[in-house]
Amino acid sequence: MYYGFDVGGTKIEFGAFNDKLERIATERVTTPTHDYALLLETITGLVAKYDQQFDVKGSIGLGLPGMEDALSGTVLTVNIPAANGKPLRTDLKETIGRQVKIENDANCFALSEAWDEELKQTRSVLGLILGTGFGGGFVYNGQIISGHNHVAGEVGHMRIPVDAWFHLGAEQAPLLSCGCGKKGCMDNYLSGRGFELLYQHYFGEQRSAVDIIHGFQQNEISAQRHVERFMELLAICFANIFTANDPDVVVLGGGLSNFSLIYDELPKRIPKYLLPIAQCPRIVQAKHGDAGGVRGAAFLNIRSASHSESAASAV
Ligand SMILES: [Zn+2]
Repeated sequence: MYYGFDVGGTKIEFGAFNDKLERIATERVTTPTHDYALLLETITGLVAKYDQQFDVKGSIGLGLPGMEDALSGTVLTVNIPAANGKPLRTDLKETIGRQVKIENDANCFALSEAWDEELKQTRSVLGLILGTGFGGGFVYNGQIISGHNHVAGEVGHMRIPVDAWFHLGAEQAPLLSCGCGKKGCMDNYLSGRGFELLYQHYFGEQRSAVDIIHGFQQNEISAQRHVERFMELLAICFANIFTANDPDVVVLGGGLSNFSLIYDELPKRIPKYLLPIAQCPRIVQAKHGDAGGVRGAAFLNIRSASHSESAASAV
């Protein structure tokens, strides 16, 4: 049995999955964002409840908006102040008496998609989230590549490539500041927020992404110019990311991933920014939506030497 916790800034979602990776229990509770003891108690309580219900000791995975400091083992998270700076994994392990895995929620999203029935045979899957922020996770043979410092997949904090800068018009391109303290991070250009910021920069009007896309569909000139500029920007940035990890399949999640034009435009626009020998990988929309976080967290404990084995035989 695999237990997954998607620990967010407002709620904790719990899911229990059987060996066929089918979800057999779901529970949502409010995140005690300012009370660490209560946070530990909430997670521990859910584990005890479902251990008893299913008469097992399920393996435990946690996804959260943040990451573990590789040196100290403490958690870095802005959205859950109670857990920030705390050795959450060690504390939970001590309280529950079982190993606990913790991963960034974007990595959990990627892992969830990589274990989808259709992609289970795929060797490498890159998950990219075009949501409030832009981030991602890379899965190879069914396992997350977390990296030396647990920052692998943090593509949102790579700076935009030089060809993107010229595409945005060098002189008039906005050099946007990022929450990480740097300037020019992709997060501020490619996220839903970035989509809106760029529109405001070039057209001097504050509009929501949904409204701009609606305008595009109504053949509004400014929205059409904006979408044209944005699609090319996405193609440039994605091509640079693909050159680093050359994935077999790319799965897109987050609000902007619902903009179906992306799946027609990117395969046409990306190849010219890749090395001449490279083909554009298959780009598909995520299947599991909001459930991705809890699925991926649960699947952190699937140990498979080869991703091509069936999930059942891999456990
Ligand atoms: Zn940044």
